[in-house]
Amino acid sequence: MAVLAFILASLVVLTVLAYAAAPGWLWAAAALGFVVGLSSVAGLSPVATSAAFALVTAFAVVLAVPSLRRALVSQRILGAFRKVLPPMSQTEADAINAGTVWWDGELFSGKPDWAKLASIPKPVLSAEEQSFLDNETEQLCAMANDWEATHLNSDMPSHVWQFIKDKGFLGMIIPKEFGGKGFSAIAHSAVVQKLSTRSSSAAVSVMVPNSLGPAELLLHYGTDEQKRHYLPRLAKGLEIPAFALTNPNAGSDAASIPDYGIVCKGIWEGREVLGMRVTWDKRYITLGPICTVLGLAFRLYDPDKLLGDKEDLGITCALVATQTPGVQIGRRHLPLNGKFQNGPNSGKDVFMPIDWIIGGRKMAGQGWRMLMECLAAGRSISLPSSNVGMGKLAVRGTGAYARVRTQFKTAIGKFEGIEEPLARMGGYLYAADATRTMTAGAIDLGERPSVLSAVAKYHVTERARQIVNDAMDIQGGKGICLGPNNFIGRAYQQMPVAITVEGANILTRSLIIFGQGAIRCHPYVLKEMQATREQDRAQGLADFDDAFWGHIGFTVSNAARALVMGLTGARFAGVPALFAPEHRRYIQQLTRFSSAFALLADVSMLTMGGALKRKEKISARLGDILSLMYIASCTLKRYEDEGRQSADRPLLDWAMHDALAKIQTAFEGVLDNFPSRPSAALLRVLIFPLGKPCAAPSDRLGSKVASLLIEPSATRDRLTAGMYVPKSEVDPIGALEAALDATIKAEAIEATIRAAQKDKRIAGKTHEELAQAALAAGVIGAAEQAQLVRAAKLRDQVVRVDDFPRDFGLSEKLAGLQQRAAA
Ligand SMILES: Cc1cc2nc3c(=O)[nH]c(=O)nc-3n(C[C@H](O)[C@H](O)[C@H](O)COP(=O)(O)OP(=O)(O)OC[C@H]3O[C@@H](n4cnc5c(N)ncnc54)[C@H](O)[C@@H]3O)c2cc1C
Repeated sequence: MAVLAFILASLVVLTVLAYAAAPGWLWAAAALGFVVGLSSVAGLSPVATSAAFALVTAFAVVLAVPSLRRALVSQRILGAFRKVLPPMSQTEADAINAGTVWWDGELFSGKPDWAKLASIPKPVLSAEEQSFLDNETEQLCAMANDWEATHLNSDMPSHVWQFIKDKGFLGMIIPKEFGGKGFSAIAHSAVVQKLSTRSSSAAVSVMVPNSLGPAELLLHYGTDEQKRHYLPRLAKGLEIPAFALTNPNAGSDAASIPDYGIVCKGIWEGREVLGMRVTWDKRYITLGPICTVLGLAFRLYDPDKLLGDKEDLGITCALVATQTPGVQIGRRHLPLNGKFQNGPNSGKDVFMPIDWIIGGRKMAGQGWRMLMECLAAGRSISLPSSNVGMGKLAVRGTGAYARVRTQFKTAIGKFEGIEEPLARMGGYLYAADATRTMTAGAIDLGERPSVLSAVAKYHVTERARQIVNDAMDIQGGKGICLGPNNFIGRAYQQMPVAITVEGANILTRSLIIFGQGAIRCHPYVLKEMQATREQDRAQGLADFDDAFWGHIGFTVSNAARALVMGLTGARFAGVPALFAPEHRRYIQQLTRFSSAFALLADVSMLTMGGALKRKEKISARLGDILSLMYIASCTLKRYEDEGRQSADRPLLDWAMHDALAKIQTAFEGVLDNFPSRPSAALLRVLIFPLGKPCAAPSDRLGSKVASLLIEPSATRDRLTAGMYVPKSEVDPIGALEAALDATIKAEAIEATIRAAQKDKRIAGKTHEELAQAALAAGVIGAAEQAQLVRAAKLRDQVVRVDDFPRDFGLSEKLAGLQQRAAA
């Protein structure tokens, strides 16, 4: 009994030491104390005690003396690492090394420093940026008619294009010294977001030149001459850029593009120059059909060694004027009825000077590294912003519609069945917008968050897809029948585009987020890998020794932290006073999950090694945990940055409960499918010692969120802030806004009429009869009756859907064409 009690007490001491990440000497002292204690309670002989004492001392000395530890232990482990570590291609290395680690590093640490999150400055627009948003962007929204662009004209009208060029929309990321706007990332994001609440054609046409493409590549790598020539022209829309990477045989696996160039001499403008003969076949290229300068990616070969001694130089990016003889361009794709310009282009043995390579000949073969280094900025902004925009359109419009549209004599938004998708829409949008803002803010802080940009891209687009799907379900036939009065149908059609571009979502979730995160954000893995590949063997051993033993301490500490916080519900985990009291439990839960995640990630890498790369379903769920912790952090930050608006609390609570419950589900998914069952059993005890702690948002909470969406309020305005809200009642959104206001006013009047009917003061069969009787009996006044009439008229207007001639106007169009031809 005494022995058992002693062993239990020792386990507690062990856990405390591990939890506190105690230094080595304390572990050694504890081990010696254990020997002495065991000898006394178990009555060990002096010989056995001395032997155990000697063994522990020898062990401690080996581990404590660096030269001994390296020679006797670390050297062997490093050898084993070298054997099992899979080789890394240059393109993989470029992807891994690109960008920076930011808040993701804290989430991977097992012990996030929440004070750091609190100290991240709130992203704000400058006066000039705010003015651009309130004036030029608002004007562009007013001019851009999505139905006309997508259905009638298959493009934006030329005056809208000209406005885009003249006002500098295409040069938001180009510095002022080159004639661009030099906007911050948060301003760029706000413009794309607002345009996306109005017109996909305008939003995509503005988004693409400001994302990864010629301008961004030139800014980072262009020669002075290239910058001076192209940037002012791009900023003013005198050149239209496109970026061509995708080939029919290389989509997701873009590094394997078969497009190629051969370094050779040729005649250019009457002189013999060093150049390249390039052959390519690209598809899906946005702005491709109208571009004047193509950022072209291809693999460059130098068989005659004209540039140096390498034959296969690797992926190279060049700027190709589309007027160049041999460039085939101009046909269009039809991406789910989106009429932004998109199409294929190709060229066969097109000769171009070598200095068309972005950055000149010294950047030959550096294309993949350039793309990977620049990817984070565009990916952090473009799709998160455009998709939050579509989410805002869906939430504001559908929330209003759900109040205006009645069935069974009730506003449909008040049915529990509709409350559920409405709550999801509100909670998802709150979190997605928080993620958009914090990630764009990171760019303005000088970060290039490669992993978090993938998280933002994947999770914001998936949330937006769900929001738009929910909007479609709530609107029923109104969402399905396309036409100028349908404000959601085109967003629904465009969703798969967002899911597919800038890293298709399945690939991003399954391969990129954890695959890259585990190496980049982990405090030790990259250091171990670098040490393993270090050419200087002695340096490699020293670096590996540091990283490896740090890693062991990290894993042991996280195991203890996960267990202790699992047993105590993390109620003792520290939370800085900087946060609102309502955040306390959320932060404690996230701290617990961070420790558990760090442990699970380590055990996954240890037990599966290189095979984890192929275990995409496990990797995807591990990535979900990291991603959801990030989304939850952004959500908390948003609440703080917006001044702790208590009226928004249901949105915060819904989003946090949703994230925490989903994190728990992702843990469960990994443990249920973990290949090593003994490891899974042990991990389950450490991570969920008392079962599952988190519940999904409750129905009651969902009702509160839903009710925020179906009536005007400051919360609804904050939730949809930055969206274009037309004033005209001819516009479907303008009409919905007016109808919502009128409906709410009418509801109070109708309640008065119903009360009078119940008291038998008035009678009538229809709404109109009852209103007339109420007016006659003095139950309501003339102004109130006018309000009822206005509400009914607006309701009829927003409920109406478009219809067309039986041949959709084809014969009329043909007759017009014939008349024109005859004239
Ligand atoms: C409207 C539109 C605009 C575009 N604009 C441009 C542009 O301007 N410039 C440009 O260069 N390209 C552009 N693209 C191309 C876009 O980047 C590619 O479509 C994208 O990379 C995916 O390639 P893919 O369509 O060939 O799909 P595939 O690569 O064939 O992928 C099909 C599916 O397999 C999944 N998948 C692939 N590999 C894995 C894996 N290892 N693990 C798990 N799942 C995997 C993908 O996630 C996807 O779901 C555009 C595409 C569209 C549709």
